[in-house]
Amino acid sequence: MKLAGKTALVTGGSRGIGRAIVWALAQEGARVAFVYRSDSEAAEQLVKDLELDQRESMAIQADVSEADSAERVVQQVQEAWEQIDILVNNAGIVRDGLLATMDTEQWQQVIDTNLGSVYHFSRAVTRPMMSQRHGRIINISSVASHFGNPGQANYAASKGGIEGMTRCLAAELGRRGITVNAVAPGFIETDMTEEIRNVAEKEIIKHVSCRRLGRPEDIAHATAFLASDEASYITGHVLVIDGGLTLGGL
Ligand code: NAD
Repeated sequence: MKLAGKTALVTGGSRGIGRAIVWALAQEGARVAFVYRSDSEAAEQLVKDLELDQRESMAIQADVSEADSAERVVQQVQEAWEQIDILVNNAGIVRDGLLATMDTEQWQQVIDTNLGSVYHFSRAVTRPMMSQRHGRIINISSVASHFGNPGQANYAASKGGIEGMTRCLAAELGRRGITVNAVAPGFIETDMTEEIRNVAEKEIIKHVSCRRLGRPEDIAHATAFLASDEASYITGHVLVIDGGLTLGGL
């Protein structure tokens, strides 16, 4: 139980990678609050499933792209559990399209959701974590920010921004006992990749050294490790978890 006695907050926690992270943190002994946008049924079910496994959790509805959502969510968790030791900025969206035809809304939605939320939520937990002199911030990036994928200028910009912000925050907060890292997944089997998996799964797998797509748990276990005391000397790092997709070998 690496995280016994710790309290965590995960954005986008009701499905996909976020849901697996909620489970992994809870199974390591943390109390986990998670943010969901609209699927209250999935969120309530997750709380019930965790309860059956003797895990304490809390579901909070919020749109993370809205500037004032983070303060409200953090306050709610603090009122219930007093502190937040771990923040996982996981919520994210794609709105793919070539730049020539990408409208401002398509650009802004992705930047506000993927990058704006990391700013708002990290800012909201930073002061309390500084007073505690302990904290873990883990940002979910993507290997898409290391490639040049046509149609993903908005997404790559948001994830590249996250990685830059991760290094700056790590430099600012290390002396306060707070580590800040990013995890950059490759192709993971979630709703986000369903469309592309339907048309190109076999082709993608040919480029993955491990010869399979990633599972949400592959990301979740590494995230739980970065959240633990054992990872106290790892900061400002981007951990690529892609089964070898970006190695570029033949
Ligand atoms: P997903 O679509 O299954 O889950 C995304 C979650 O974020 C959902 O729970 C959704 O409700 C939530 N979310 C989105 N916008 C929100 C908003 N405005 N307010 C609150 N919640 C919001 O996708 P996933 O694959 O689980 O993605 C999780 C993270 O991993 C994302 O940041 C994504 O960019 C990143 N990622 C995924 C892959 C992959 O292959 N699936 C690869 C690299 C990075």
